Amino acid sequence: MIPVAARSTASAGAPFVATTIERRDLGPKDVLIDIAYAGICHSDIHTARGEWGHTLFPLTPGHEIAGVVSAVGSEVTKLAVGDRAGVGCMVDSCRECEPCLAGEEQYCVKGNIGTYNAIGKDGRPTEGGYSEKIVVDEDFALKIPEGISLDVAAPLLCAGITLYSPLHRWGAGPGKKVAIVGLGGLGHMGVKIAKAMGAEVSVLSQSLKKQEDGLRLGADAYYATGDEGTFETLAGTFDLIVSTVSATVDMGAYLGLLKLDGALVNVGAPEEPLAVPAFALIGGRRSLAGSMIGGIRETQEMLDFCAEHGIGAEVEVISADRIDEAYDRVVASDVRYRFVIDASTIAG
Ligand SMILES: [Zn+2]
Ligand SMILES: [Zn+2]
Repeated sequence: MIPVAARSTASAGAPFVATTIERRDLGPKDVLIDIAYAGICHSDIHTARGEWGHTLFPLTPGHEIAGVVSAVGSEVTKLAVGDRAGVGCMVDSCRECEPCLAGEEQYCVKGNIGTYNAIGKDGRPTEGGYSEKIVVDEDFALKIPEGISLDVAAPLLCAGITLYSPLHRWGAGPGKKVAIVGLGGLGHMGVKIAKAMGAEVSVLSQSLKKQEDGLRLGADAYYATGDEGTFETLAGTFDLIVSTVSATVDMGAYLGLLKLDGALVNVGAPEEPLAVPAFALIGGRRSLAGSMIGGIRETQEMLDFCAEHGIGAEVEVISADRIDEAYDRVVASDVRYRFVIDASTIAG
């Protein structure tokens, strides 16, 4: 076993403390990554606070991981020592089911193996990126291209792919009008990526508080959903709406913003069921869909796309002592737009 400094929480809502976890010895297909940065995703917070109801404590979260390969197993071909590498939300899957064989491991019918808070194939709980090193099968490691620095690359591994996948799948591009609902960790990536794909991008946010940011990040227009008039003005406007909000919204109102054959794709996860008025779908042959991260192949494609277009996340780099404070600020939407932990501060 390889002892590794990490930050973990002992129970729901307990503060993060410095600790040591054990990574498995390298198997033939494993790579050891020295972590440089780990992003803080809202999912980390839900899990650490026990809000999703199935947390394995003690928990070391983190699934937006960027670093450098420091050792490789004997059969590794995809990465070499010194390569910049990342790990996202999954570290394994069954590899045999239809989604896995199609490269859509996130939809593995047996459930993908999460980077943390899951049981790995070795029977041990998986532990995430709030740590100095991680061991991962090369098939679930990503190459981080030159041209994106590691701090702004880390959040691409969850927030980036979560937006890239639906934008790509539903055809965001030249001539398409795309709206991103919510300008947070996910939404700000959506704006940058949709713009780089060539779409005309609007942000739909509760207020105009972040309008200046939204336009700077590449949005062509910015609208307040708190203003009733917005839904009248924009009726029938968009080809695609990607909603990143986890609050329950008026589905009929948002569906009404779609053109004929438009799609509303949810990547946020509201706790309550969404009430969908059927006529909002029927009139305009509209679709309502969901999307969850992306497969490994698509995640690599996203990283290459982001490097080519000079896209990284907007980050605030913090030391590991500030994780608890960062969590409170994320919950209060007080971050522009992603906290990233400097892994050199993890040992404390
Ligand atoms: Zn995430
Ligand atoms: Zn599978």
